[in-house]
This record gives sequence, C-alpha cells and structure tokens, in this order.
Amino acid sequence: MVQHLWVTYNDIHNLIRKSTPEIARSFNPDLLIAIGGGGFFPARVMRTLLREETTNKTLQIQAIGLSLYEPVTGTSVEKLGEEVIRTQWLGPETQKLLVGRRNLIVDEVDDTRKTLHYAVSELQKDVEKELLSYPEDQRAALREATKFGVFVVHNKKKPKLAEIDSSIPYFSGADVDDVWLEYPWEATNIEEHDERAGRPAN
Ligand code: 5GP
Repeated sequence: MVQHLWVTYNDIHNLIRKSTPEIARSFNPDLLIAIGGGGFFPARVMRTLLREETTNKTLQIQAIGLSLYEPVTGTSVEKLGEEVIRTQWLGPETQKLLVGRRNLIVDEVDDTRKTLHYAVSELQKDVEKELLSYPEDQRAALREATKFGVFVVHNKKKPKLAEIDSSIPYFSGADVDDVWLEYPWEATNIEEHDERAGRPAN
C-alpha cells in the first residue's frame, strides 16, 4: 500500500526557506518558471525569500502548465516527451524571455522526473528559437549566458524514468521516500489536513 505524507503550508515554506540561500548563492536566478499547478505556490514563496536573500529585486514569475499522461505499456524512452502534455505555455509576447537569463524552473515534486525532463528540453528548444531573432555573431555568447536550474520542494528517492541534463543545477527542499505527498493546496478542509500532518491547525 502506498504511504501518504501530509505536508502543511508551513512545512513547504520552511523547506523553501532552507533552500533559498544556496540557490541565491550558487545559481542566482533572474526569472522563475513555475510548472502549474503544484509549482505556483512554491514559486511565489521563493520569490519572497529570494528577494530577502538578494539585492531586493522582485523576480518575474512565468507559468507553464504540464500534465502527465499515463504511459501505454512498452513506451520507449524516445517517446517519454509525448506522455507529458502542455496545458499552458509561455506566450508569444515573451519572444525574448529566456535568452541571457538564469531561469529557475520550480515544481512541487519530482516523482518520475518526466515532467521536469519535458519542461527543460522544451524550454531549451525555445531558447534556440529566441536566438534566431538575435544577430548570428551574438548567438553563441547569448546561448552560453542562458542558464537553467531546477528547484523542487520534494524529490522522491526512486529510479527516475527520465533525466535532466547533468549540467543543470538541481535543488530540492527535501529528498523523501517513494510516498504519496498530500499537498495543502489540494485539501478542501485545511484544518483536517494539518491535523493529519501531525500538527495543530492554526
Ligand atoms: P513526474 O512523475 O513527472 O516527476 O511528476 C508528475 C506530476 O505528478 C507532478 O508534477 C505532480 O503534479 C504529480 N505527482 C507526482 N507525485 C506526487 C505526489 O506524491 N503527490 C502529489 N500530490 N502529486 C504528485
């Protein structure tokens, strides 16, 4: 039977708070890309904490929506991307968004890693598209200046079904066993949720 772990808003806030100094020091993002819906709250909290950690700048948060389709048995590694579908993506008004920036992708949980794999590889394709609107002789330097990083609140310690480019900095608030995490934004009764998390509700 799958074990469930109830986490409170405060638990999540504190995991983000604990991770932020290292993210600010070693990656220093200048754009947050939240994967919806679970990455929205963590990205918003991270913005506040990064602002405190850095030179008071308020980062822009862009949102992308991804949904994981259960694979049909026998799916090959090459088809992994096809199991994730986009429900929302960066808009056309963001044609010069990623290039030259240090883009931190934020999600709540890294389970099989398929969603993060898809997000990173599609955003890298977007960088190549954006680069076409720059003079050719500037593209190599701009490509080099464009960075991606990943932050998840929870990373499940389990064999992953997809990989993220090893050059991409990866931060997790906590590494957990292969349990089912119950997030507060999915609760209809937050007091009951917090009680199950073993803490008195505020
Ligand atoms: P992936 O398998 O691609 O790493 O994760 C896909 C998505 O499944 C996550 O973004 C998240 O929305 C959902 N998911 C995976 N594991 C959990 C979990 O333990 N709890 C909840 N609430 N959602 C999960």
